Amino acid sequence: MYDVIILGAGPSGLTAAMYAARSKLRTLVVIGPMVGGQIALTYQIDNYPGFPDGLTGPELSDRFKMHAERFGAEFLDAEATQVDFTSIPYKVWVGEKLLEAKSIIVATGMTHRKLGITGEDRLFGRGVFVCATCDAVLYEDKKVVVVGGGDSAVQEAIDLAKFASEVTLIHRRDELRSCRCLTDKAMSEPKIKFLYSTVVDEIIGEKRVQQVRLRNLKTEATSVIDTDGVLLAIGWNPNTSIFKGYLDMDESGNLETFGVKTRKPGVYVAGDLMDMDYRQVVTSCGSGCAAALEAMHWLETQLVR
Ligand code: NAP
Repeated sequence: MYDVIILGAGPSGLTAAMYAARSKLRTLVVIGPMVGGQIALTYQIDNYPGFPDGLTGPELSDRFKMHAERFGAEFLDAEATQVDFTSIPYKVWVGEKLLEAKSIIVATGMTHRKLGITGEDRLFGRGVFVCATCDAVLYEDKKVVVVGGGDSAVQEAIDLAKFASEVTLIHRRDELRSCRCLTDKAMSEPKIKFLYSTVVDEIIGEKRVQQVRLRNLKTEATSVIDTDGVLLAIGWNPNTSIFKGYLDMDESGNLETFGVKTRKPGVYVAGDLMDMDYRQVVTSCGSGCAAALEAMHWLETQLVR
């Protein structure tokens, strides 16, 4: 029986684990797809305080995990497949294995959205990709299209421009929604071109991506351009399907949260799932800390330890 099971090992889950374990709670982290979550896919992190020279996402992820391990947090390298939050102890299954805890911190984060267009699934992994950090090196001296207009798209375009010969950022609106610092950086990179008010209707290629069919939303004019890759950076869907029926959520799977609290006593939420506004590493860490403190206080008041 654990005091707290943390689902997810991104910055929020790992910070929650460090705080909980340091307070002598018996703490288990069910890692999910990877230690670090989204930051494991980020090449350079320049805005995490205390690291003025920046560091890589995997490096920061490892540091977070080591920090939690130092205080005795346990880790299970697997994904939770089912939960039952009907009564305490709360139950979490990892395949056939049943785990039980008096409190839960949900830090399962988000997964990349898809466009839902022809060619996207068939050519996924063959030119269609979602992570510049992972795949940029494959596009040395090649042409790449990036779809999206938020921080992710612009950051990915900047990362790709270090390798690719040309990066075309395609956005459905007539202006980017990325922060000023990223926008300015992208605008000053000569390899990055911008196509506004434009959508990708089809990804074309036999064995690999060769072209994309574009449509201008203002004129409805269509065109086909050559490209070697299509990076999708159009946002994220919440990883909450296993909580359906146990935690309140809207039709898109966004959890109903009150800060880090849910309506379910002893069940807390940290990271991107409770933060529609900022979604930074440092804010994720903050909510992980808050969730662990809430769990700690709740366990004390329940005298269930
Ligand atoms: P986002 O802010 O939700 O932006 C998604 C972009 O994709 C939007 O421009 C959206 O267009 C577009 N889009 C969505 N669905 C589309 C579709 N079907 N077809 C075409 N375009 C579509 O997502 P994000 O950029 O991944 O950022 C998520 C959060 O992470 C943000 O809070 C961001 O600040 C944070 N983040 C921060 C950094 C950093 O600080 N370095 C880096 C990455 C992410 P519309 O504008 O028309 O909606």
